[in-house]
Amino acid sequence: MTTPHHSDVLIVGAGPAGLSLAISLAQAGFTATVVEQQSDSALAQPAPDGREIALTHPSRATLQRLGSWAHLADHEVGQIAEAQVHDGPLGRHSALQLNAASGTHSGDTAAPGALGFIVPNHALRRTAHTVAACTPGVRLLTSTQVTRVATLPGHAELDCVPTAPGDHTTPQRLTAPLLVAADSRFSATRRQLGLGAQMTDFGRTVIVCRMRHTLPHGGVAHECFGYDRTLAVLPLPDDPQEGHALCSVVVTAGAADAAALMAQSPEAFTAQVQAQFSDRLGPMALVGERYAYPLVAVYAQRFAGHRCALLGDAAVGMHPVTAHGYNLGLAGVERLTAALVSARQRGQDIGSADALALYAQGHHRHAWPIYQGTNAIVRLYTDARPVPRLLRQLVLQGARRLPPLQAAIVGQLTGQTPAWMRMLAPGQAAGLRNG
Ligand SMILES: Cc1cc2nc3c(=O)[nH]c(=O)nc-3n(C[C@H](O)[C@H](O)[C@H](O)COP(=O)(O)OP(=O)(O)OC[C@H]3O[C@@H](n4cnc5c(N)ncnc54)[C@H](O)[C@@H]3O)c2cc1C
Repeated sequence: MTTPHHSDVLIVGAGPAGLSLAISLAQAGFTATVVEQQSDSALAQPAPDGREIALTHPSRATLQRLGSWAHLADHEVGQIAEAQVHDGPLGRHSALQLNAASGTHSGDTAAPGALGFIVPNHALRRTAHTVAACTPGVRLLTSTQVTRVATLPGHAELDCVPTAPGDHTTPQRLTAPLLVAADSRFSATRRQLGLGAQMTDFGRTVIVCRMRHTLPHGGVAHECFGYDRTLAVLPLPDDPQEGHALCSVVVTAGAADAAALMAQSPEAFTAQVQAQFSDRLGPMALVGERYAYPLVAVYAQRFAGHRCALLGDAAVGMHPVTAHGYNLGLAGVERLTAALVSARQRGQDIGSADALALYAQGHHRHAWPIYQGTNAIVRLYTDARPVPRLLRQLVLQGARRLPPLQAAIVGQLTGQTPAWMRMLAPGQAAGLRNG
């Protein structure tokens, strides 16, 4: 074991959340060491993984502040002008429509043009790595596996070893006042820290892929809640080489059904998607691979403790249907940075449970209603029995007739508080917006 290396914060996991936190903390004057099992080249050029991440306006503002947004190519940033939610087969019932104008229903004047943005996950990972790799104060330890973590009265420490074959570098010990686990929803670090998590296995799988199509999508995102399968079609920027219109297709199905869909030929799979989408985009064709993710949602019992905190999916691993996962991760980056800056200003130990409580409580207040609401939507919209079917129609019809509710949903995405919420006391409005 070499002499321990010390920094202000140790972060396990160089995913988009861990890297964004490292940049944010370094910009605030802290030093951060990030430990990641993947190689530096895998982080610098991450392979496509089929995920297209819908981002809110506040998330874009965070990425702009960190500097990673500026590294995205034009063809990697799409805009979502409108979202339509359909119950059952497309066109049978009228859809709930949400656009930036729904957010300004109650007399707001400055409407943001887009409801949100959409960026490939691998591009978010690449740009976070680009910025982290050249930010003074950030140290990246790649191809490295964590073997032990411990929180002691005066500091946190972790032991790690290189994972690259043939690398016989001596194991290292790293120390810091604070250790952050950002190593995915199945976080081994969370477990080693003794922090439990509630897991919900939906027994379903989501398949994601890109498709090109002949008719324009008009920037409209569709969520079609079928009775056995759910289909989302998300608008992407045109193909930069061929100029084709592109969309992201997200199919959610029971595990066995999903396995059968993955085994189908590209043509057979495309035909099913096109039929479920009632040919709205004309003839479609698969572009690249299909990727399958088992749907397991995770919520940690606590987001922080003495000398440790959880971030990103390690804190809250969302079902993707409401597209909140990374948006919550970035909100966590902002909140944890603010908590540490505030502790430093007050002369407090940044790893103390008191200093971290600000982050843990604020993030829980924000994430818990979103997590529970998303899981309730999933349960309601994957239950084909007659009563839940009726209930979901009533819920959508009710939402269509409640412009203030639409304004609140849109306000959450655009970061603009609707006029009726601004009329509440500021504390009440913040509480509502956080949940
Ligand atoms: C199909 C799908 C669609 C989605 N769509 C959206 C969307 O539209 N909007 C949205 O906001 N979110 C979306 N999400 C969620 C989003 O992708 C995640 O929230 C986000 O990628 C999580 O980032 P993270 O950094 O917390 O974790 P991860 O991306 O899982 O990164 C964790 C990192 O930790 C590393 N690691 C793991 N274990 C160790 C270890 N022991 N030692 C060292 N390193 C380790 C891993 O190699 C990895 O690099 C979607 C997710 C899916 C699956």
